Amino acid sequence: MPQTLLADAANLLPDLVALRRALHHEPELGLELPKTQAAVVAALGGLDLEVTLGEACTSVVAVLRGGRPGPTVLLRADMDALPIAEPAGLEYAATNGNMHACGHDLHTAALVGAARLLHARRAELAGDVLFMFQPGEEGYDGAAVMLAEGLLETTGTTPIAAFAIHNGPGERGVFSTRPGPILAGNGRLQVTIRGAGGHGSQPHSARNPVPAVAALAGALQTMLTQRFSVFDPVVLSVTQLFAGEAVNVIPESAGLGASVRMVSADAQARLGEEVRVFADGIAAAHGCTAEVDFTLQYPVTVNDAAATKHAIAALSTLLGAERVIEIPTPVMGSEDFSRVLAQVPGTYLFLHSSPNSVNPATAAVNHSPHVLFDDAVLADQAAALAHLAMSTLAGR
Ligand SMILES: [Zn+2]
Repeated sequence: MPQTLLADAANLLPDLVALRRALHHEPELGLELPKTQAAVVAALGGLDLEVTLGEACTSVVAVLRGGRPGPTVLLRADMDALPIAEPAGLEYAATNGNMHACGHDLHTAALVGAARLLHARRAELAGDVLFMFQPGEEGYDGAAVMLAEGLLETTGTTPIAAFAIHNGPGERGVFSTRPGPILAGNGRLQVTIRGAGGHGSQPHSARNPVPAVAALAGALQTMLTQRFSVFDPVVLSVTQLFAGEAVNVIPESAGLGASVRMVSADAQARLGEEVRVFADGIAAAHGCTAEVDFTLQYPVTVNDAAATKHAIAALSTLLGAERVIEIPTPVMGSEDFSRVLAQVPGTYLFLHSSPNSVNPATAAVNHSPHVLFDDAVLADQAAALAHLAMSTLAGR
C-alpha cells in the first residue's frame, strides 16, 4: 500500500507544484489571506469534504469523513508569508513586497495533496481527518484564533493525534523530528528602571537609572546560569536599550528589551519571576526600582513521545529509515502549532527541502530572502501527511 500511495502522490505532483507556485507568486500576511483562502477552497473543490471558513480569520477547516466510524486525526498547514521583498529570479517570484520565505506555500499545497490522497481512500478509513489550513503563524497566533473558534470540536470528537510538517533547508527529502520539545517557546521581556532625574554634574543627588540598566543588561546572562540548569537552556538576547535625551541630564527612567527563548514548561513558567527578583535587586543597589513585563508569545512546542515514535516508524516504512532522522536537540525557532500540541498529542516534523543545486550545509535558512525550497518534495510531503493520518486511524 505505501507504494500505491507514493505513486498516487507522484501523479498529483504537477498540480501541487502549480498550486504552490501560484501561492508563492501572491503571498499574503497575517490573519487576512483572502486570495490564499480562495485558492485553497478552489483546490479542494470536487472533493466530498465538509468545509468551514473562519470568521475571525481567513482559515479553512475541512473534514473528511471515513467510510467507517472512528476517531479524528488533525493535519495542519500554515498559509501566511513574511514582509520580505523577494529577489527577482524565480519565474514565479512574488512582486508584491511579501515573500513565502518560510515555506508555508509548500505546507498549504502538500495538505491539499494529502486531502486528495485521503479522499481517494476514504472508504477504507475508520475515522475522520480534520484539515487545518491556518493563517497568521508568523507572530499573529492564528492557531489560537482557530482553537477559539472551536477547531477541535469540528468533527464531534477531539482529535486523538495532530501532525504538521515544516519545510526547511538541508538535504532534500529527509524528514527530522524528536520526542519532547521540538521548538522553543519565545517571549518578550521589557524592564523599566525608575530612579530620580537630575543634573549630569551631580549624580549623588539623583538616582541614575542608566548604570542600573547597564549592569542588568550584562548580569542577566549570569542570572540565567545561576537559576536555570545548563541542561534546560534559556537564550536571552538584550536587543533594545532605552535611556536619556541629553548628555548633561540624568533621566528619570531607563529600560531594556530582550528576546527570550526556552525549551521547557518549567523555564517558561519561571522566567518572568526570576528576572523580576533579579532586576529588583540590581535596581535597589542603585537606589532605583524595577518593573518587569514578560510576555510569552508562543509556548514551547512539545512532541508527544508515543505519537512521535509512531510518526518515525510510519514514515520509515513509507520512505525508508534513511530518510527519517531523530534529532538530538530542539530547534530554537517557535511555532503556534504548540497551541494545538498542548491539547492534542502529536508530532511536528521538518522536511529538508534544499534544491540539489544548493549545498545543504550552507543553504540560506527560513526567513532569508535567499532561501530556496525544491517543490519536487511536495509529492512525498503529501504522502507523508496522508500516511500519518491513515496509520494513526488504523492503530499502527
Ligand atoms: Zn514557518
